Amino acid sequence: MEDSKDRFKGLTVEQALLRSPADMYDRGRWAIRECENQPHLVRLARRFQKLWELFCQAEAAAAKCTESGCKGAGRLMSFTRRDSGLSPRPEFWCERHGPGDPDFDTPKMPISIREIWRFNTKGDRRRFAKYIRYALGIPKGTRITEEFANRWFADIEDGD
Ligand SMILES: [Zn+2]
Repeated sequence: MEDSKDRFKGLTVEQALLRSPADMYDRGRWAIRECENQPHLVRLARRFQKLWELFCQAEAAAAKCTESGCKGAGRLMSFTRRDSGLSPRPEFWCERHGPGDPDFDTPKMPISIREIWRFNTKGDRRRFAKYIRYALGIPKGTRITEEFANRWFADIEDGD
C-alpha cells in the first residue's frame, strides 16, 4: 500500500478490502500477477490472498430472503441475466426459496464476494461488492477503522 497518490494510501490491506472490495480485488490480482517481476509486491500479494480467502467465507448475517412474506435469513443468491451479462444485483434466498428450476438465469449459490469474477467491468464489480457488503452487515457509512477491520477478519478466522 505504498503508492503515494492512491485512495488506499495509509490504509491496511484489511481496511482497503472492507472499504473498497472491488478495487482491492483488482489491486490484489494485479499484485499476484506482477510479484514475480516486482518482489516488493510479494507481501501485498500474500496478504491479499489470505484475507481474500477469509472475506469469501464471511457469513451473510444481514441478508434477507427475497421471497415475499418469507422472514428467512438469506444464505444463497442467484443472478438475473441482462444483455451485457449478469446483473450485479443478486437476489438473496433462504434455503427453501429461489430458483431451483432451469428457467432461472443462474442456480443458487452461497452469498459470497467470491463470485465477483463473474463481472467484467469495474463498475459492475463495484456494484456487486456493494450488495455483498450490505449482506455481510457492513452498510454504507460504516467507519472502517484499522481496529474494526482487524477485528472483523479475526472473527472470521476464529469461526465466529
Ligand atoms: Zn425464503
